[in-house]
Amino acid sequence: MTAIRSNWTKEEIKAIYDKPFMELIYEAATVHRANHNPNEVQVSSLISIKTGGCSEDCGYCPQAARYHTGIEKNDLMTVDTVKQMALNAKEGGASRVCLGAAWRNVTNNEDFDNVLDMVKEVNDMNMEVCCTLGMLSQDQARRLKEAGLYAYNHNLDSSEDFYKEIISTRGYDDRLRTIEHAQNEGIHVCSGGIIGMGETDDDRIGMLYTLSNLNPHPGSVPINGLVPVPGTPLEEQNPVSIFEMVRMIATARIVMPKAQVRLSAGRTHMTKEGQALCFFAGANSIFAGDKLLTTPNPEYNEDMEMFKLLGINPKEAFVDGEKPKTKETYKEVRENDNEKWSRPAHIIERNVEATEKGKAARRALKEEATK
Ligand code: SF4
Repeated sequence: MTAIRSNWTKEEIKAIYDKPFMELIYEAATVHRANHNPNEVQVSSLISIKTGGCSEDCGYCPQAARYHTGIEKNDLMTVDTVKQMALNAKEGGASRVCLGAAWRNVTNNEDFDNVLDMVKEVNDMNMEVCCTLGMLSQDQARRLKEAGLYAYNHNLDSSEDFYKEIISTRGYDDRLRTIEHAQNEGIHVCSGGIIGMGETDDDRIGMLYTLSNLNPHPGSVPINGLVPVPGTPLEEQNPVSIFEMVRMIATARIVMPKAQVRLSAGRTHMTKEGQALCFFAGANSIFAGDKLLTTPNPEYNEDMEMFKLLGINPKEAFVDGEKPKTKETYKEVRENDNEKWSRPAHIIERNVEATEKGKAARRALKEEATK
């Protein structure tokens, strides 16, 4: 039951996903207890180091420049600001900091050099550092690793088929290639997706199929419930039920026994009882802090109160892997960034509509300002 396999079939995963609810969570909890301390949950803090203004058209994302979502755009934070925020997160119980920048892909420039310095500084604070910066070449992955990066986040978002209905500016294969680049450098991979975007159960199973057939499995698997943001193409989606969330977590736990399954966006819609059920079914990681990039999230002290109630302890840093050693060469570019990333550019009607609405809203604001 707890063997680590990278040869799952879709049929096998579907058979698990479709089990009667009680049987499913019992099996998931059994796998969980055999592979993890059930009273320990990892706490990660997500810092948006560069917010908004992104060139991509991800249908769920308020940071895409083309949609009008009213988020405040920010240039790259300073290294000192990030250090202070990481310190606050550590004091709030976090052992990992995830630095997120709204970029399509990483570019070798001063901004990336600053991100490398942030990685070094936070790693020096004895916290696990994760980055989510978009697509990444092999040499850029090497530089991040040498700066002290512990993990890289690159979500698959959904199944390969449904991905095409959400995003038209990036290809699924590019995501897999970025994951491979991180794995080649020995960086732990964090990869999961979002439910509640209008996908079918088969799409959810399809995503778990791709993740669980990676070898090695991702170290962390974030499962997000869509937070529908006004102005995005998915603004009218209904939030997923707690039972759908638990079913997804439990299946992820069974097919990827050693991964940290992370209860991510969408927690503000969940009760403490619902979250407890998620932990029972195998979730053992959360994002803490009042914001997840741009969407609301419970405060650190609320989470610590919930942990106390449930007898859960926050997990220490570097329990599942060694602390990376920074190498002085992390600023050296060895290969020019000539990685070719695809831009499929097929038409997704609702993305086009939201883009048009965005253009009209910005025009109206401009006209208002010139009156
Ligand atoms: S999900 Fe990332 S790549 Fe997509 S629009 Fe948002 S910030 Fe850009």
